[in-house]
Amino acid sequence: MKWLLIAGVTILLVGAVAVWSRRSGSSALEVTDADLQRAADGLLALVNPELPSNAYFPEYVTDKLAWLNAEHAAGRLDVRFFHDTPENSLPPDIVMASMWEGGKGVILLSKKRFAADLLDTGGVRPPFSARQRNDFVISLVHELVHLQDGVSDERRVWAEVNAQVVRPLRARSEPLNPRFIEVDKALRACQDRLPCPALERLVRLQM
Ligand SMILES: [Zn+2]
Repeated sequence: MKWLLIAGVTILLVGAVAVWSRRSGSSALEVTDADLQRAADGLLALVNPELPSNAYFPEYVTDKLAWLNAEHAAGRLDVRFFHDTPENSLPPDIVMASMWEGGKGVILLSKKRFAADLLDTGGVRPPFSARQRNDFVISLVHELVHLQDGVSDERRVWAEVNAQVVRPLRARSEPLNPRFIEVDKALRACQDRLPCPALERLVRLQM
């Protein structure tokens, strides 16, 4: 399979130019739209499963990314930034969301949350950390389960991504967002059976 560079082609900036900033100690951290564009392009390129550095990705991840690649090449799937406005915003804990739009799959990347997560985990410019790469690919695979497998139930998507991706990465001691680890612990406590009340306390069941 020839890996087409999904970066750059796919990510379309929408909304007005914005600067996200946050104070850290005495200095202000600023993230511009251009930074976010470069970071998203860079992370998409970095999760290319054909890179030797990604040999640890479970086959499940490779399959999902291959589907993303094929659908994008066929013009059936876009990845876009989502720009929060007072009238239209994503919940604050959501970094990616997906939907169907005129028969086309769309993955939205929340600019606000993406910027905040990058600032929390090592910065907005390369080199990106293993944690940033892992968190990005897990979120992407989550949306691909919604789109490719047509699963809308958040409990099922979290359980599936946990079993197929998070748990194998944890077994390798890969750095991950603590939220993914909490979800794995909750699902283990439920013996991976749904419904799992501990899981439902941790994840957003509806947008
Ligand atoms: Zn979801």
